Amino acid sequence: MKEIAGLEQMRAACAEIRRSGSTLGFVPTMGYLHDGHLALVERARAEADVVVASIYVNPTQFAPGEDLATYPRDPDGDRAKLEAAGCEILFLPKSNEIYPDDFSTYVVMEEIFARYEGAFRPTHFRGVATIVAKLFNIVGPDVAVFGQKDAQQVAVIRRMIRDLSYGIRLAVVETIRDPDGLAMSSRNVYLSPEERQEALSISAALRAGRECISTGADNYVALEQMRATLSPSITPDYIDIIDPETFDHAANRSGPLLGIFAGRVGRTRLIDNMRLDGGG
Ligand code: AMP
Repeated sequence: MKEIAGLEQMRAACAEIRRSGSTLGFVPTMGYLHDGHLALVERARAEADVVVASIYVNPTQFAPGEDLATYPRDPDGDRAKLEAAGCEILFLPKSNEIYPDDFSTYVVMEEIFARYEGAFRPTHFRGVATIVAKLFNIVGPDVAVFGQKDAQQVAVIRRMIRDLSYGIRLAVVETIRDPDGLAMSSRNVYLSPEERQEALSISAALRAGRECISTGADNYVALEQMRATLSPSITPDYIDIIDPETFDHAANRSGPLLGIFAGRVGRTRLIDNMRLDGGG
C-alpha cells in the first residue's frame, strides 16, 4: 500500500491510475478504523479496480466544544487494517494544504442540511460536503463508498453528487454492528461498560420500531414503542420515523421508512438508524 500526504502528489497518482484504464473506488474516513470501515473497503474492491482510502479528521465538520481534539487515532493500526483489506493507496492529507489560511469556499445545501443532524450540528454538513467535494476533486473516483450508519450524510452526498454533476457512482454499505447490536463507531471507545450496556437500547429501540411496523402498527405507535424501549438514562436529540430520501417525518405507513436516533450516552453522542419497512 502506497501512502501519500501531498495533495498534488495524490492528484497525480490517481490521474495515472485512471490513464492506465483502471477504475478507482474511494473510501473517505476519519480513521480509528473498525469492521464497518473495512466493509466499505471490501465493497470498493468489488466495485472498482483500485481502492483508495483517506484518513482525515476534518476540522470543519466539528463545532467548537465537540471532540475534534480528542477524536481517537491509531495510525499504525489503521495502516495495517487497510493493507490487509486490499487498499492500494492511503491518502493522509495535511490541514495546511486542505485549508489554507484564507480558505473561504464551502459547499452548502438547502433543505436536507437543516434537519435532524443539521439542526443539532448546524455547521456539520457544510464541513462534510466541503471536504468530500475537495476529496472527490483530488481523487476523481469512479465510485465512492459510504456507510448507511450515517444515513443523512449519505442523503447529503447523494444530493451533492447530483446537484454538482460529479458523475460519481455512490455505493452504500449497510451498518455493521457488534454481535450485541451496537452499531460500530470509532466513538464507541469513549463508552464505559455501563454506558455501553445502556447504548444497546438504541438498536433495541430501532428493532422494536421495525417489529411494530411489520405487525401492521401505525407509525406513531411504532415511534412510541421506540421511545419506550430506549433506556431512560438516554435523552435523545431526536428519535423519529422518516422518509430516507427526503428526511421528511413520515406520518403514514406507505413508502420506505427509516427509524433514526441521535443522542448522548453519558458524554458520548451516538447516532443509529434502521429500515423499518423491510426494505434496504
Ligand atoms: P467516519 O470515519 O466515522 O467518518 O466514517 C467513514 C465512513 O465509514 C462513513 O461513510 C461512515 O458512514 C462509514 N461507517 C462508519 N461506521 C460504520 C458502520 N458501523 N457500518 C458501516 N459503515 C460505517
